[in-house]
Amino acid sequence: MAAAAVTPMMAQYLEIKEAHKDALLFYRMGDFYEMFFDDAVAAAEALDIALTKRGKHAGEEIPMCGVPHHAAEGYFLTLIRKGFRVAVCEQMESPAEAKKRGYKAVVKREVVRLVTPGTLTEDSLLEARRHNFLAAYTEVRNEAALAWVDISTGAFHVMPITPVRLSPEMARLGARELLVVDDADSALRDMAEDSGVALTPLSNASFDSTSAEKRLKELFKVGSLDSFGQFTRAELGVMGAIVDYLDITQKGKLPLLRTPVREAVSGTLQIDAATRRSLELTQSMAGGRDGSLLGAIDRTVTAAGARLLERRISGPSTDLTSILDRQENVRFAVEQSRLRDRLRDMLRKAPDMDRALSRLALDRGGPRDLAAIRNGLAQAADIAETLQGDLPKLLAQATQDLTGHEELQQLLDDALIAEPPLLARDGGFIAPGHHPELDEARTLRDEGRGVIAGMQADFAAQTGIQSLKVKHNNVLGYFIETTAKHADVMMSPPLSETFIHRQTTANAVRFTTVELSELEARILSAGARALEIEKQLFEGLRSAILDQADTVGMAARALAEIDLACGLADLAVDQDWCAPQVDDSRCFTIVGGRHPVVEQALRRQGGESFVANDCDLTADAGAAIWLLTGPNMAGKSTFLRQNALIALLAQAGSFVPAKSAHIGLVSQIFSRVGASDDLARGRSTFMVEMVETAAILNQADDRALVILDEIGRGTATYDGLSIAWATLEHLHDVNRCRALFATHYHEMTSLATKLEGADNATVAVKEWEGQVIFLHEVQKGAADRSYGVQVAKLAGLPPAVVERARSVLEKLEQGERDREGPKALIDELPLFAATPAPAAAPAAGPSEVEDRLEDIHPDNLTPREALELLYELKALK
Ligand code: ADP
Repeated sequence: MAAAAVTPMMAQYLEIKEAHKDALLFYRMGDFYEMFFDDAVAAAEALDIALTKRGKHAGEEIPMCGVPHHAAEGYFLTLIRKGFRVAVCEQMESPAEAKKRGYKAVVKREVVRLVTPGTLTEDSLLEARRHNFLAAYTEVRNEAALAWVDISTGAFHVMPITPVRLSPEMARLGARELLVVDDADSALRDMAEDSGVALTPLSNASFDSTSAEKRLKELFKVGSLDSFGQFTRAELGVMGAIVDYLDITQKGKLPLLRTPVREAVSGTLQIDAATRRSLELTQSMAGGRDGSLLGAIDRTVTAAGARLLERRISGPSTDLTSILDRQENVRFAVEQSRLRDRLRDMLRKAPDMDRALSRLALDRGGPRDLAAIRNGLAQAADIAETLQGDLPKLLAQATQDLTGHEELQQLLDDALIAEPPLLARDGGFIAPGHHPELDEARTLRDEGRGVIAGMQADFAAQTGIQSLKVKHNNVLGYFIETTAKHADVMMSPPLSETFIHRQTTANAVRFTTVELSELEARILSAGARALEIEKQLFEGLRSAILDQADTVGMAARALAEIDLACGLADLAVDQDWCAPQVDDSRCFTIVGGRHPVVEQALRRQGGESFVANDCDLTADAGAAIWLLTGPNMAGKSTFLRQNALIALLAQAGSFVPAKSAHIGLVSQIFSRVGASDDLARGRSTFMVEMVETAAILNQADDRALVILDEIGRGTATYDGLSIAWATLEHLHDVNRCRALFATHYHEMTSLATKLEGADNATVAVKEWEGQVIFLHEVQKGAADRSYGVQVAKLAGLPPAVVERARSVLEKLEQGERDREGPKALIDELPLFAATPAPAAAPAAGPSEVEDRLEDIHPDNLTPREALELLYELKALK
């Protein structure tokens, strides 16, 4: 490529692009961001916008696309969702300023920000009720650590971790972006794909613990990090990487990070990704919040309260004291219903101070963020006043955190108007009377405008032209306009001495006067002066707030805590939930338990109501397992999950959907559902099922609560039965945990009677005139049969098929009574409906057909293969 062929602008573009190869470069040109070359092709496709061409580079046309700058945020979000990163390159001077430097000078441009999934702060890009975490992970020799930050609220956490726990922790956090060392291994990439987190590789240097320590000390302005806790090298490394990355993406403007909180691994109830999915904690299987536990129980009225609830549900505690303290809050709010209603009314008016604070810290805030702090603190003070008297410990602490901001609040109150505009640069947000000089400048500006308006009459009198107008536009500023007909008079003496010609357009001629220009200049400078003063005042207020960011943040968290307690109390009262007894025993006694999501769904449908069920998995030592049998659709899965959810809610500090509940602390919850379609992930479903079951058998300790639903379903009958059998034995003998195990393998009920810590239970059904009626009642004991055929009939299988199935079943059941094992049953089963079974097997050993049958695994056949086999068998006969 000939250097001469590159325009100066293109040279600038290429240089900037070179430094941001891994991001789409949004290159500001006037009112647009433009993309070129491959960026343009990728962006046009991802955003579904037109791809055009602009000029040539090295003989080739340059692909180009663009988006208006005022609408850019929406485009950022789409691109981020599609896995891109965006480098935002702004003009750092006006074209006029560039011209001053030389005729051909290109406007200076710089990348001012990298937009990545984990570093969003704009309200429009964030879901208010969810956290947006950026995480970092590293392994240093034998230790590994994970840190995460929500830059939109400043919350900063770190914890030691073992590599196998990374995946579940990522699932708990639902982080959007994970920073890893350059040479991240394939296990990490798999994990990222699984959890949908974007991996961002950084150099080793970003994770270096020595420079990390230095960075952190500077950031938090401390001489030693000891006051935050003792950190391992890996922990320092991940925290350092986060700070480094924020520095890179925010181009030196660091968000307001709270001091890091070190989380103990043992402090939270461990729930891995598969369990979260299967229990639908924060997202339903369909993907949305609707239909999830969170969707069903969220009664908070503030965004911060909703985020806190999400945190508690995603990571319930295992610390008895904090569980009971949180429960005390809810109980108090349940008992004080009038007070609760009043608090909720006040909370509804409290803005999201966390996010306002963080935007102010990043210098992306505006007058509305100042107002958010003012209004938030005002609500905080009111709420503190309302919350007097004898309070539970946590509420008393929260109430204290709400107060003590009178001075700041007063300052903001005096300074700001009630409803300020979005942008500081347009001014108009400082209240009159707050700053005398500002008032003076504004008066000058406004009076000037009034005087100019009044001048129109003077000019008309002076010229005798009644139709003359004083107007304003952005090019000429103020001018006097008259029609072409009258222009001549004004352009000849004596009027021409006063009126200076500015412009002639098709319909009008425009003039000015010395007096008018002077007045305009005065207005302009007064306006500029007013803006300048407002800008300074904004900075002053911003730093006044940031000086107290810590305590303002504490007030915000206190509001969230109160909101959460009120929200959970409202739910408990409305849905008739009870306070669970939580202790460190090994109890698990639920009386009248319900599934919160299914119950609400049934109620909405207005049909049958939810049938409450008891569950008792108490064992002083060793395992306590219920083996649950019953036909499909009886309610097995619902029962299994409701018990897991009740334990989880109890440890989140909430009331629970039951008449009474006594739960000895649970350390881990595992929930697996036998293979259903997981084709989207392109893995054999059975393999997934087995990998997940293996994870449970390897990890569950004796405080785990394990829920297995139809494990073994994904393979041939006997394989499946054997695996389910062995799994149950292992849970009983080795893991010794509390477990619920649902299966449709009836053969397993005999196992439960053999194992000391296992019991049979069944979901009752009634048969009536050949129909099955689901009672949804869980009872001790084994189901007598499976009712699969009846369910098939209910589902609308053709009558001929149902009839045929019934007769096959009869044969099988008869075989079971007459003979020894299931193998004999299958042998006995007639192959063709139309052909009666031979009276006796030929004495001369197995026939060819029988040999062939021996090799067949019906569960592994596609319908087409089955049909072909039938033809093959028929031919053998
Ligand atoms: P299974 O796992 O035995 O196939 P599910 O737990 O999926 O059955 O339940 C099937 C349906 O039965 C659910 O969608 C729900 O509508 C209803 N159901 C389950 N349990 C109850 C209950 N306790 N009370 C009322 N309806 C229930």
